[in-house]
Amino acid sequence: MNFSSLVRLAGRCGGYRIARQLTARHPRILMYHRFSKESGHGVCSATFERQVAYMARYYCPMTVTQLVQGHFQGGGVPKHAVAITVDDGYYDFYEVAWPILKRYGVPATFYVTTGFIDGELWLWPDQLGWLLEHAPSESTPFEAPLIRVTPPKSLEDREQTFNELVFYLLGVPDDTKHNFLKSLASHWSLDIPQNPPKRARPVTWEQLAEMQREGLEVGGHTVSHPTLGQVSLEQARREILGSSETLDRRLGSHPRSFCYPNGTPSDFIAEHVPIVKEAGFTAAVMAFSDAQSHDQRYALRRHASSEEMFQFYKAVSGLELLGHRLRRSKLETSYE
Ligand SMILES: [Zn+2]
Repeated sequence: MNFSSLVRLAGRCGGYRIARQLTARHPRILMYHRFSKESGHGVCSATFERQVAYMARYYCPMTVTQLVQGHFQGGGVPKHAVAITVDDGYYDFYEVAWPILKRYGVPATFYVTTGFIDGELWLWPDQLGWLLEHAPSESTPFEAPLIRVTPPKSLEDREQTFNELVFYLLGVPDDTKHNFLKSLASHWSLDIPQNPPKRARPVTWEQLAEMQREGLEVGGHTVSHPTLGQVSLEQARREILGSSETLDRRLGSHPRSFCYPNGTPSDFIAEHVPIVKEAGFTAAVMAFSDAQSHDQRYALRRHASSEEMFQFYKAVSGLELLGHRLRRSKLETSYE
């Protein structure tokens, strides 16, 4: 039996309840990205409502800034604290997720890319998706270092090519990534439109202001969503400080936390932390979880939630956190 099957079995046998009690004093931060009305893209409204109702009943939901203020500045954090976070700034948060959160009185933190809200750009994975959708049926292969792209022949092929290219592009410098997309578009004689298609559009500043009045924390997620570990320190500075300035100018000065784009350990460096502090952000979150949880205020771990209820229960109950701790303790003992 593999680890995942073991966790599923443990959950079904009361493991989620036990994990919830064992980790009552260890707040969890959950991470979401996209939502849809019907099942399909991202978390659908029926599933999200089930998850929000569950958290409203068994947990103590709060924003990331409320959580860190209690955790790091005295006052403490209530038992079973959980923070729901959503990345990027898509309209589907306003349309699908926020009405549900509001109905259950559950606060959340929404990390927005300010240039995306301003209509200056659309996010590169959406541009890639658009290119693959509009690829010609026949073309000579597009060659780039370490990768070769042919137009996808089916929906399955398109999904596979998309996943391979995302993986490839996450590992290259920001400029290379944008040049790659431009060159692929030109190879296929396509013009990437100025504005994103409807399904990839951003929320507006007015909608953000409305949600902020209703209790949403609007956090920073840079200006143009580069992988900060792949750009110069100067550019990282402009991205972090620029996002904070725009948020304050558009939405007024409020305590806000920050989210590193992509957020894996290689996507930011220690030198970014003083800049995040200088920008006035209360804390910063990553996009992965491990045994450390919330030891570092400017590198808080997050647990991915999803449409799949198993992943949600594992993340929110603390079972995933216990698993990380168990594996770390095993690793440490093996080095003794
Ligand atoms: Zn993001």
